[in-house]
Amino acid sequence: MLEAINLSKKYGEHEALTDLNLTVSPGEVFCLLGANGAGKTTTINLFMGFIPASAGQVKINGIDVSEQPSETKKYLAYIPENLMLYPNLTGLENLDYFCGLGGKNNSREQLEELLSGSGLQKEFIHKRVSSYSKGMRQKVGIALAKAREAKALLLDEPTSGLDPQASNEFSALLQDMKDRGVATLMATHDLFRAKDVGTHIGIMREGKLEHVLNAEAISLKELEELYLETMKLTQPVLS
Ligand code: ATP
Repeated sequence: MLEAINLSKKYGEHEALTDLNLTVSPGEVFCLLGANGAGKTTTINLFMGFIPASAGQVKINGIDVSEQPSETKKYLAYIPENLMLYPNLTGLENLDYFCGLGGKNNSREQLEELLSGSGLQKEFIHKRVSSYSKGMRQKVGIALAKAREAKALLLDEPTSGLDPQASNEFSALLQDMKDRGVATLMATHDLFRAKDVGTHIGIMREGKLEHVLNAEAISLKELEELYLETMKLTQPVLS
C-alpha cells in the first residue's frame, strides 16, 4: 500500500534522505525511529506529496505520488504531531467539515458514532475543540481517517507530549486501524510504543534506513541496544 523505491531527498547540498526502500502492506504498522534530523519527517512529507523527491519514487497503492498526487490522497489519512482543527468549532463540526471537503456527508448520528468509536468522551463531542487536550484532537483525527475509509495512515510523532494513558488509548486506536487492514507508517521517538504497536520497526540515521526489524522478533531491550548502537550513544534512553 505504501512504497518507497530508491527514494532520496536533498535540500541544497544536504542529503536528508538517501536511497530509502520500504513497503508497508495492509494491516502493517511500520514505525520509523531515529534521532532528530534522521529523516523521519522528510519521509512522511514525501509520502504526503508535500515535497518533491530528488530521486526515486513514492507509490500509494501502486500509484506514483508525483504523477497523480490527488488520486493518491484518496487513500491517505495524515495525523501530524499537532493536528490542525478549527478551535471554535466542536469536534463533531470539525469532523463534519473535513468529511464534507472529502465529499462525504454523514448524518449527525454517524458523526457521533465515529467520534465515540474513536474514544472521544461523549461530553466533549459537542464542545469546542479549543477545550480539547492533544489526545482528544488526535481522536478526532482517527475518526476522520475512519470516516474517509483511509487505506493508509501517516503519523508524525503522534504520541509526543501525550500522557501514558492517552498514549495507550492511541495505541489501541492504531491496533483497531491495523485490524481494519489499514497500512500505517509512523515516525516516532518512542521505542516502547514502536515495539508495542509496530509490526515492523525501522531505525534511521542521517537519512539512511540502517535496520528493518520484525517487531515480534525483538525484545524491547534488544531494540534499545540496537538503537543505541546505531546512534552510537552511550547513555540508555530507557530506564
Ligand atoms: P525530528 O526527530 O527532529 O523531527 P526527523 O528525523 O523528522 O527529525 P527531518 O525533519 O526529516 O528529521 O530532517 C532531516 C534533515 O533534513 C535534517 O538535517 C534537517 O535539518 C533537514 N531539513 C528538513 N527540512 C528541511 C528544509 N525545509 N530545508 C532544509 N533542510 C531541511
